[in-house]
Amino acid sequence: MSKESAFPFAVNAATSARLAKLNIHNVWDLALHLPLRYEDETHITPIADAPIGVPVQIEATVRHQQVQFRPRKQLVVQVADASGHVLYLRFLHFYPSQLQQLAEGNTIRALGEIKHGFLGDEMIHPKIRTATDTMLAQTLTPVYPTVNGLTQPTLRKLIQKALDSIPDDDTLPAALLAQLNLPPLSDSLKLLHAPTLEYAIRDLHSGTLPAWQRLKFDELLAQQLSMRLARQRRLEGQAAAIQGDGHLSQPLLANLGFTLTPAQQRVVAEIRQDLTQTHPMHRLLQGDVGSGKTIVAALAAIAAIEAGFQVAIMAPTEILAEQHYLKFSQWLNPLGLSVGWLSGSQKKRDKDQIKTQLFQGDIPLAIGTHALFQDDVQFHNLGLIIVDEQHRFGVAQRLALKNKGRDVHQLMMSATPIPRTLAMSFFADLDVSVIDELPPNRTPVITRLVNSSRRSEVERLVERACAKGEQVYWVCPLIEESETLQLQTATETLNQLQTVLPQLNIGLVHGRLKPAEKAAVMTAFHGGDIQVLVATTVIEVGVDVPNASLMVIEHAERMGLAQLHQLRGRVGRGANASRCVLLFSEPLSELARARLKVIYEQTDGFEIARQDLNIRGPGEFLGARQSGAPMLRFANLEEDLPLLEQARSLAPKLIEQRPDVVRKHLQRWLAQRAAYLAV
Ligand code: ADP
Ligand code: MG
Repeated sequence: MSKESAFPFAVNAATSARLAKLNIHNVWDLALHLPLRYEDETHITPIADAPIGVPVQIEATVRHQQVQFRPRKQLVVQVADASGHVLYLRFLHFYPSQLQQLAEGNTIRALGEIKHGFLGDEMIHPKIRTATDTMLAQTLTPVYPTVNGLTQPTLRKLIQKALDSIPDDDTLPAALLAQLNLPPLSDSLKLLHAPTLEYAIRDLHSGTLPAWQRLKFDELLAQQLSMRLARQRRLEGQAAAIQGDGHLSQPLLANLGFTLTPAQQRVVAEIRQDLTQTHPMHRLLQGDVGSGKTIVAALAAIAAIEAGFQVAIMAPTEILAEQHYLKFSQWLNPLGLSVGWLSGSQKKRDKDQIKTQLFQGDIPLAIGTHALFQDDVQFHNLGLIIVDEQHRFGVAQRLALKNKGRDVHQLMMSATPIPRTLAMSFFADLDVSVIDELPPNRTPVITRLVNSSRRSEVERLVERACAKGEQVYWVCPLIEESETLQLQTATETLNQLQTVLPQLNIGLVHGRLKPAEKAAVMTAFHGGDIQVLVATTVIEVGVDVPNASLMVIEHAERMGLAQLHQLRGRVGRGANASRCVLLFSEPLSELARARLKVIYEQTDGFEIARQDLNIRGPGEFLGARQSGAPMLRFANLEEDLPLLEQARSLAPKLIEQRPDVVRKHLQRWLAQRAAYLAV
């Protein structure tokens, strides 16, 4: 819904600006702005009967008022109710008007939790009402999420007006609701905004109330409908059918130096099959760190090139894009194919040259960062887009890609498995291929948790690995607040290691290096000239140096599980027995302890992702950065699985039989969000 659909009642500019901050733009947004919690002002509890630590409303007369200055300035008011029981009300900050409201002799109502205090039982910062001026509330009082300057009473009034003005017509037919055993939407909203006391506050919060179920169902249904429609649009789209003839892939496979695992062969076949279709492929290639996704991508690319199409491969970091560029050049140059390279930091002249070549079709394959999908990059006949480490791209980038690749086959790759509930919802328009085995002869990485006070022992491990001709990563702590600080730590680590291990050649790579410098360091590490690579988390994804056998991660307790798993995946890629040392500093938070335990005990990426999901919940798991889609507001994918399943089975039927219902439902629920949900 756009700007013109404002509110059917007067809302002044200041208020509507504040509402906009809450993402409320129209009457339905208001109606769907649900309470965070409720207060019970429907009855008075005698002080003598009031339970401790539970919100209660009392009515009492002020006996004594005093502003104290020690230990700090505060207002303490002694009140007593009809039964003569005394209670203290304490305010650590207060306005002059409150002194009047709480003047001796006044009768007031106070809502709050009673605690045993220093003077006796007390309420801290209770909500005060002047008793005589209001009737007791008939319904529970909703408390809404709000922003500065928008008070609860104002918001309450606006929402009540909205509820009075929304049309009664339900998006879902009555017969359907009866079948699903769900109440009408307007009733549900009215109940949730102003429940009568028969609904215990606990039930209102539990989410199992039919009114809540209705909201959750509607939301899930909207999401399922929009995903299905996106899928339908894709299947109706036109893409070139691509059939490689093998004249390039056969020599590549023959010279590879290894044979594909059965899992790799299977996914290559799945992808090739998709490419022969006349609608765009939308496939996720999922395989744990080190499972060998790159060669699968290369074979997909080659199939397209064999058929005369261009291919674009996008990676989330320059380091990874460059590594792919080198690897693909090594694979494809012997076949007489040249590979193009495009990144944001390239000189304009080089960029322009490569753009011209891509536009004219002189180059069959381009590799780069998201610079590849800027508007001014045009291809002669792009047939396939491959996105590595897909989960690392933000929404804006995915949208750009989506526009560029509207009628183009797409292969996305990720080591992060998508949990089942997410696969059923946010990623419903994605076919998934899984590489479920690692290449042969890998020895599992041994993980050690080491207190950072034992750093010198770890330095000896570095020395020993290098003495065997193997290589080492030393990853510096993630310092989210400050890149400068992170850089400083990395430089200090480098100096320290150089001092204790002067015989070794130690390099440093971090995000602030110029791309050419980064590339030089990485090339030296790939070539074995640098034995120890001190790095920030820029090497987190994709980097492949099979000779590296030791990964040291400092302040591992600060990192997320997915990140730790990715980092650990940089070693154990060759035949060398590999180790990952997780240095941690105490004290450990409970969360950090849980994460370290998982990463210590598990090596399987699926299992780690599953536990990550458990620890963080799906919203966090997707992450704002990763999904960009506003997550579900009401439904919880794990808890509401039965509702999700119902919505999922209903969606195709509605699309088939009731396009009118579908349109109305999506209009109400998604409006401007629809574009994002489909990314
Ligand atoms: P990821 O799935 O993490 O992207 P890569 O594609 O980087 O993994 O592969 C990891 C390493 O395994 C690379 O050095 C690659 O050459 C090697 N590799 C891939 N497939 C095989 C295979 N079938 N046999 C042996 N080594 C392989
Ligand atoms: Mg990879």
